[in-house]
Formats: sequence, structure tokens, C-alpha cells
Amino acid sequence: MKNHKYIFVTGGVMSGVGKGIAASSIGAIFKARGFAVTMIKIDPYVNVDAGTMNPTEHGEVFVLEDGDECDQDMGNYERFLNISLTRTNYMTTGRVYQEVIRKERNLEYKGKCVSVIPDITDEVIRRIELASDKADSDITIIEVGGTIGEYQNMLFLEAARIMKGRAHDDVAFVMVSYLPIPSKVGEMKTKPTQFASSTLNSAGIQTDVIIARASVPIDQKRKDKIAMYCNIRPEGVISAPDIESIYDVPLNFEKDNISSVLGSVLKLDMTDKPLNFGPWQAFVKKSKAVKKEVNIAVVGKYFSSGDFILSDVYITVLEALKYSAYKLDHKVKLHYLGSQQFEKDPKKLKDLKKYDGILVPGGFGSTGIEGIISVIKYARENKIPYFGLCYGMQLLVIEFARNVLKLKDANTAEIDKNSKNLVIDIMPDQKQKLAEGNYGGSMRLGAYEAVLGRGTIAHDAYKQDAIQERHRHRYEVSPDYIQKLTDAGLVFSGKSPDGTLMEIAELPKKVHPFFLGTQFHPEFLARPLVPHPLFTAFIKASIKNMK
Ligand code: GLN
Repeated sequence: MKNHKYIFVTGGVMSGVGKGIAASSIGAIFKARGFAVTMIKIDPYVNVDAGTMNPTEHGEVFVLEDGDECDQDMGNYERFLNISLTRTNYMTTGRVYQEVIRKERNLEYKGKCVSVIPDITDEVIRRIELASDKADSDITIIEVGGTIGEYQNMLFLEAARIMKGRAHDDVAFVMVSYLPIPSKVGEMKTKPTQFASSTLNSAGIQTDVIIARASVPIDQKRKDKIAMYCNIRPEGVISAPDIESIYDVPLNFEKDNISSVLGSVLKLDMTDKPLNFGPWQAFVKKSKAVKKEVNIAVVGKYFSSGDFILSDVYITVLEALKYSAYKLDHKVKLHYLGSQQFEKDPKKLKDLKKYDGILVPGGFGSTGIEGIISVIKYARENKIPYFGLCYGMQLLVIEFARNVLKLKDANTAEIDKNSKNLVIDIMPDQKQKLAEGNYGGSMRLGAYEAVLGRGTIAHDAYKQDAIQERHRHRYEVSPDYIQKLTDAGLVFSGKSPDGTLMEIAELPKKVHPFFLGTQFHPEFLARPLVPHPLFTAFIKASIKNMK
């Protein structure tokens, strides 16, 4: 096993300044220099995972291959490093305590008094080391959620401090801090960062690098000031101004030599490790050069309450659309449409003609659903490319059952258990789990195989007979209706290997240019350098349909 090096990324002054992108970028840089890198996210909340949190509060739930429901930063890591992570790479306070309590109940502490320190901190360290061993990493980057000075993340900082004490040259610290420019003053202020650094010192941690997030680049004078007051080398202050694209961040950090600075703290031999950023640079260049726009309407229910960041709720879907559009020399222009407007005023459906393609992302519950179904009907009848993800596929099936099969009350058991035609029904094992009051982590989660039918849009896109895609759902196309739907012209082009679960539904190419839904979430596998084939097929059809 390798001797792993660890880089802890903390946040100073305030949240929301891009700690996740900073951590991902540092990972991407070291990977581009030829190191084996893995990433860990620590979320200080008590929830065991992100699965039980409302996306309008916490942002999108990202799903890993092994089914872990986690923070969207895990998605950033996977996309920036083009790697796949597992549940070992994600921890929360709840998860750490749950394991320590399990061991205690199992007498694994052999009668000793179990304490927060060192037992909880040891469990944190055990998890960090385990993830590093599993990935056989040279470097493990650990993002500590929350902000310095918060009560919630203290134990994780304590674990980091202990690790540094045990192996001084194997642990480095990065603090992503914010430097405000008050409008009345008009100049960048370093004091909040100095305070954050000294608060970190009082937790026994001296940071090695400070990433200076601000609206503009930090000047040398302030770099020197931060260096002096925060006890770091001047080259340890990395300029991180607001920029147009998050994909520029790694390139920007390297302009200030962040990997050499961290490499020297960690005593890494970097001599034969030149930066190989070619494909990434080509991607960033192309993303800026493309001019032509394809207009995609994203229709969902989470669009009207206004007190949350919309792009946080659907970030993976939005990124997946972008990658495919760039590949096809286009920019994607997104239009968020709240579905309830179509319930209130069906005449508005005509406006959908403006868009080159329509996408319905995953979702839960009954709000706005009738509006979405009317949008899908409109897309089908007017041959507008339609792409439905998870709920978007189930609603496609309902729309088809209602309007083509003429089962007027076709529905999903999620909305109306009493409908006589539950074309989407709960899976039997899910019924059991819900009866036991078992909500957290109990959906069909993670990667499952699907086999594709030849000659379908899906097969043409993937160019493969079998695929693995990530899931997060409780309901399925009911086996009682598969034959009837097929006879009426709906093609199930992807099925579970035993043929029982419908994974992809589509209309034949000669009937509609692109009318397709997936029971899984293809967006979780879209990467900047490897766009997802189904998203690419959807964007291609949308470009063809351009007004
Ligand atoms: N609500 C649906 C289900 O649970 C779809 C879930 C989703 O879109 N992720 O089956």
C-alpha cells in the first residue's frame, strides 16, 4: 500500500465561495500531473446521507455507482477528475456516529468508555485512510464542509489536526477564503481572512495555502499582508477572482503554481510530473468558442418559489446538457418553465414551439404533474424532441397510456393509488420498506445493468448492447401494462437483463425525431471530457429541430 498524502480543504469567512470547485480543481491538477488522486467530502450535518434532504434546501442529491445519496460536490469531483467514487468517499456526522454507536452496541470497544475524542475522530481518520487505500491514492483531497469557526465541523478539524501531528509531511491544509470589497471602501479587505486563519490556529491547525476568492485578482501587497498575518509563505496565497467558467479554475490556480506549493509542503517529488492539461484545455477553449445556441426548455415543479438557487437543484442535468452541446459545436441556452403555468393556462403550451427541445428532469410528488403531462403530450404531437429523466420517463408513459392507449385515468401510484390504471406502480420491495417506515436510502439506488434493443434510438446512441446506469426511484412501469403499451407503439428499448424492469421508453424514429425517457439518471455519468451519449443524441435532435 502507498504512503498517502492528504490535503484538507477548509472554508474561511463564509460559505458559497466555491470550496467544492476549489477542491475539485486541486484534484484535477494533481491528476493532470500524473498522481493517483481520490477525493473525500465531509458534510458536517447529522443526516446519514443527503437522500432525505429537500433539494431546494441543500441542492441536488448526487447518486454514486454504489447507490450512495450524497452532496453535489461529489458530482463535481467525478466530473473534474473523470473518476467514479464510492460511499467510502463521503461522510457526514450522522454516518460517523452511526458506525461508532454500532460498534459500541456490538461490544467492539471492549467495555471501555467511548468518547468523542479519540473514538469519533479515530472513526473519521479510519474512513479517510480506508478511502485512500481503496483508491490506492498518492494524494487524497478531503473537503471539510461548512466554515471555520462553526461548531458543526470542529470534530473533523480535530481529526485533521491529529493526522498532521502523526505524519507532518503527509498532511497539507488549504483554506478557501473570501475577501470582500465593500462598496463604500472600494478596496479588498483581508481582515476577515486573518480572523478565519487565527480561528483555524486556535483549532491547532496552520494552513499552508490560502485561496483568495474575490471578485477581482488579489494584488501583491495583499498577498504579502495575508502571508505575514496568517503565517504562510507569500507564494501560498493563490489568486482566485470570479471567472466566467468553473472549468477555468484549475488552469487559474496553476498560474499561481498551487501544485508546486502544495507539493513542497508534502515533500512530493514533482520532477518527472509535468502538467498534462491538453484535453481539459481543449474542452475549455471550445466551450468559450462556440457561438450557435440551442434552446432547451427544462420543465419542472421547482421553479417558482424563488428562495433557492435553481441551478443547484438541477446542476448535473445542466452540466450534462452543456457537455453534449459543446461536442456538437453549440451552446445550450436553458429556459426554466414551471409546469403549473400550463395547468392554469393551457394556451401557454403553444409557446413551447419556440424551443428546440424539451427536457423533464427527475422529481417527486404531485405538484405540477398534470402540467408536465400536458407538455409531454404537446411535444409528442408536435414532434419537438423530448427527453424525460426518471420521473420524466414515468410521465411519458402515463401520457402515452392516457392519450394513445386511451386509458384516461392512467397514473402513477405515487399520485393516485386509487386509479384503475396504475401504469406506474410501486415496486414490491419498496412497498415493504415504506410499510416499515424506512425512507432513508431505501429507494432503488445506484448502478444497474440494462440491455438495449437493436435499431432503437438508445442503441444507436450508446452503440452498445448493454449499459450500466445510476438509479434513484421507487416506482416502475407496471408489468401489467407493458404488452398493451408495446402494442400501441411505445418501444421499451432498454430493459433489465431479466426483462422485467423497463429502463428506457421511446417512440420509433419514423414516428418522432426524439421522444425518449429513461428510468435511470443518465446525467450522473456525463463528464466534460466524456459527454453522455443520450444527452448528445437529444441535443443533436434539438439542433436539427432549430428554428
Ligand atoms: N418519483 C419517482 C419515483 O420515485 C421518480 C423519481 C425520480 O425522478 N428520481 O419513482
